[in-house]
Amino acid sequence: MNGQTAPVDLTIDQIGAALDDLLDRRDPNGSSTVLGAGSDDLEAGRRFLGSLVDGGWMVPTWPSRHGGRDADAAEAALIETAMGGYAIADMYPYGVGLNLVGPVLLERGTPDQQDRWLRPIADGSEIWCQMFSEPDAGSDLANVGMRADRDGDEWVLTGSKVWTSRGAYARWGMCLARTDASLAKHRGLTMFAVEMSAPGVEVRPLVQINGDRHFTEVFVSDVRVPDADRIGDLGAGWGLTVETLAHERATIGGRAFGGGDAEEVGLPSWLEEWRNAGRLDGPVERQAAMRSFVEHRVNQMATARAAALADGSAPGPEGSMAKLRSVAAFKSRAYLGKNLRGAAGMLSDSPGHLEFLTAPSMSIRGGTDEVQRNIVGERILGLPGEPRVDKGVAYSELKKSR
Ligand SMILES: Cc1cc2nc3c(=O)[nH]c(=O)nc-3n(C[C@H](O)[C@H](O)[C@H](O)COP(=O)(O)OP(=O)(O)OC[C@H]3O[C@@H](n4cnc5c(N)ncnc54)[C@H](O)[C@@H]3O)c2cc1C
Repeated sequence: MNGQTAPVDLTIDQIGAALDDLLDRRDPNGSSTVLGAGSDDLEAGRRFLGSLVDGGWMVPTWPSRHGGRDADAAEAALIETAMGGYAIADMYPYGVGLNLVGPVLLERGTPDQQDRWLRPIADGSEIWCQMFSEPDAGSDLANVGMRADRDGDEWVLTGSKVWTSRGAYARWGMCLARTDASLAKHRGLTMFAVEMSAPGVEVRPLVQINGDRHFTEVFVSDVRVPDADRIGDLGAGWGLTVETLAHERATIGGRAFGGGDAEEVGLPSWLEEWRNAGRLDGPVERQAAMRSFVEHRVNQMATARAAALADGSAPGPEGSMAKLRSVAAFKSRAYLGKNLRGAAGMLSDSPGHLEFLTAPSMSIRGGTDEVQRNIVGERILGLPGEPRVDKGVAYSELKKSR
């Protein structure tokens, strides 16, 4: 691969032939990664992205000058299917850049920002994190209190963020901040790119139950951000946040964890393993396993169907349904796998322990299950909205916990 734009309308065999030169085939019995839990192998991911970037295989719909190959949605779907047959490095450290920031920059970034940031995302040389949540702004994300005050060509940011995944090693943070407290809380927000090594940024690690150490809280004290690093228009931060979260939910929901993302015929390896180990000999266990399997297959088929119908437009509230489905399938398998091992499952080195410890967080990260259901209820089913006592009230007038 030499960086040239490849011919359009490739067949899956042609794509496979190109990928054969770059990647190893996937071990069909190997398990997929658990959102990077416990690994964070930055170098493996960087090598992987580096080998794909000239052909634009990782982000095929991006322009070729930014590390893509100008593919349309149909060709991108073929590439994604073909990629399912290869060993994929753990992309978790690179996920915010590839799946959230990149698509948002393509829509809303200035040409200068696209030139500066997209290629380093595609080739893995620059990692991004998502600085949205704060102690008083999680499900109620529009309540963000981080301040951004204008000073000439710069902004001065002050506040704190929490639950910042990848904060420990990210170069850039996509940061939501309040630029006008006199407006209602959804309206006075603006998005910035914050350099994590800038003076005044302090990143403190938070160790998770599954051993992850990239998780952080970030304290931001009088940090100067050039106006050239403002993403989108002044006051457009909430719209960008909703877009980013839709991408995040569609990404989490677009994965069929544990059985490989490619469509499969027959039993997934985890179910075969349970059967071969004699764990499904009892009728109760068999029934529980079948329930898990059905959730897994339905999720896998719904994901494949959504990919086939995709027209390249930005994801909407259907990403919330995908996330709910995929998280339910993941948790069902993780908890049952633990239960089926009986007392031996209590050992920390037992297979599936990492999935078990990671499972609860799946219902929280990217927005909780309850919040996804609210979105589905209001934006897809047209049910009445939740009562909102702060609607139209200036952020500065709202009651705060401190
Ligand atoms: C592993 C992990 C990684 C994360 N990574 C990031 C990251 O990289 N960047 C980032 O910005 N954030 C990140 N988060 C934060 C995550 O988005 C928030 O934790 C989540 O949105 C919930 O917010 P909260 O923790 O403040 O809980 P709260 O909003 O306080 O919610 C507490 C409980 O109340 C329920 N609840 C709240 N409001 C409603 C409602 N209106 N209707 C029904 N139930 C409701 C919730 O469902 C939940 O059960 C991460 C979280 C986890 C666990």
